[in-house]
Amino acid sequence: MPYIITDPCIGTKDTACVDVCPVDCIHPRKDEPEFERVTMLYIHPEECIDCGACVPACPVAAIYDSPDSTPASQKDLIEANYIYRNGDEEAMARAEAIVRAHIEAHPDLMAIDPKERQAAHT
Ligand code: SF4
Ligand code: SF4
Repeated sequence: MPYIITDPCIGTKDTACVDVCPVDCIHPRKDEPEFERVTMLYIHPEECIDCGACVPACPVAAIYDSPDSTPASQKDLIEANYIYRNGDEEAMARAEAIVRAHIEAHPDLMAIDPKERQAAHT
């Protein structure tokens, strides 16, 4: 099962996970033109090999090791990870719309510094 990026990435987006991923399945990378336009990064569900390298690399604990382990407050972002395809404008727009809806639905989480946000996941 693929790993899932969740909302502590919003406001962090430092690409530390990209640097350690052995199969380049986290996008957009900093050198891709889409990078400045997205709110967070996404893991391609079919390309992720479940190696776990990204989890300790993330400074804000944004990455869960499966959809099942993703907390209820973050379940909507599973779909965003699944939909996002770098360079596919429609897929990118759909994923980003989910993220925007997540931000609107969780002002409580968004008010927390990203470094502390994961601890508040329910
Ligand atoms: S678990 Fe491994 S393959 Fe999957 S996104 Fe993380 S680093 Fe990449
Ligand atoms: S390391 Fe964490 S915060 Fe940084 S881009 Fe990856 S998921 Fe987002």
